[in-house]
Amino acid sequence: MPRPIVAQIHPAAVSHNLSIVKQRASRSRAWAVVKANAYGHGIDRIFPALANADGIALLDLDEAVRVRELGWTKPILLLEGVFKPGDVQIAQQFDLSMAVHCREQLDLLRLSPSHERVKVHLKMNSGMNRLGFRPDAYRAAWEEARSIAAIADITLMSHFANADDGDVAWQMDRFDAVTQDIPGQRSLANSAAVLWHPQAHRDWVRPGVVLYGGSPTGQSRHIDDVGLRASMTLRSEVIGVQSLLAEETVGYGRAFAANREMRIGVVACGYADGYPRHASTGTPISIDGVMTQVVGRVSMDMLTVDLTPCPHAQIGSKVELWGEQVKIDDVAHASGTIGYELMCALAKRVPVEVV
Ligand SMILES: *Cc1c(COP(=O)(O)O)cnc(C)c1O
Repeated sequence: MPRPIVAQIHPAAVSHNLSIVKQRASRSRAWAVVKANAYGHGIDRIFPALANADGIALLDLDEAVRVRELGWTKPILLLEGVFKPGDVQIAQQFDLSMAVHCREQLDLLRLSPSHERVKVHLKMNSGMNRLGFRPDAYRAAWEEARSIAAIADITLMSHFANADDGDVAWQMDRFDAVTQDIPGQRSLANSAAVLWHPQAHRDWVRPGVVLYGGSPTGQSRHIDDVGLRASMTLRSEVIGVQSLLAEETVGYGRAFAANREMRIGVVACGYADGYPRHASTGTPISIDGVMTQVVGRVSMDMLTVDLTPCPHAQIGSKVELWGEQVKIDDVAHASGTIGYELMCALAKRVPVEVV
């Protein structure tokens, strides 16, 4: 018998969430962002749910080729562009669009054979200060891109640093000031801007985490009214029960002490499965559908829970670590991170089941 842990992937939730994006940004086309192997879900597994996306955006050339092999005929965007000369040929061969964020990438394209041209998203660093041409260098970069024979079409792109806490105007103003008389489509909006900044939707939106039911802010309450569904459920079972006397402790470091007699459940899930080790006592978890809390330190293969609210729980009781009932962002929040990281960090050893 394998351990009882399993990650369930729900493609129907992804297509539902995509339809919410399409309603919210109804005048824009949508790149479905599937980087990091679809935020840990597996591109192959959720691929059928993306049929209504207008394009697929990701980072790895291998993943892009895989998406073509799966039969995707609509656009594919490499969000960081290419890294070496050979990549341009592969992009041309598989008809991949690419971000161009620096002079070195323009050089790669200038040296490429022009018979198969590629579409580019020319990226402005409007304040994120990660990738892109600074506003004062953007127009020259665009002029240069326009003169390169291998470049077929230029979309103007930028990325927001804090669309999740309310402010995109400072970056949008910089972007618009420089691009107002440059022709071409625009793409600015990540998930947060899709939900909360309609003026940023423009021609192409780029939703990622919302497709998987995660909150762009990392706080589940911020998306309570959006109607997203969780696309990943991490399940396991209780594999042990202990009865503690008052003042006895549980687990490594004796980090949790019972203040009365209590029952503790031992769950087959630990940090080697991708569950965050920093989940503190109080992290929500569900046992046989009843909400309770993690207590003590998460160990490699197990964690411990308070069975007080679920007196009938026993070995074999069903556990939801995160999913539709236990919000992944709530688990993340109790661990000092965001749902994004937990999705991406699901460990290889966890068996996956497509529902
Ligand atoms: C990851 C990414 C996105 C999607 O971000 P979310 O916050 O998950 O919606 C959009 N654009 C770019 C350039 C990205 O790297």
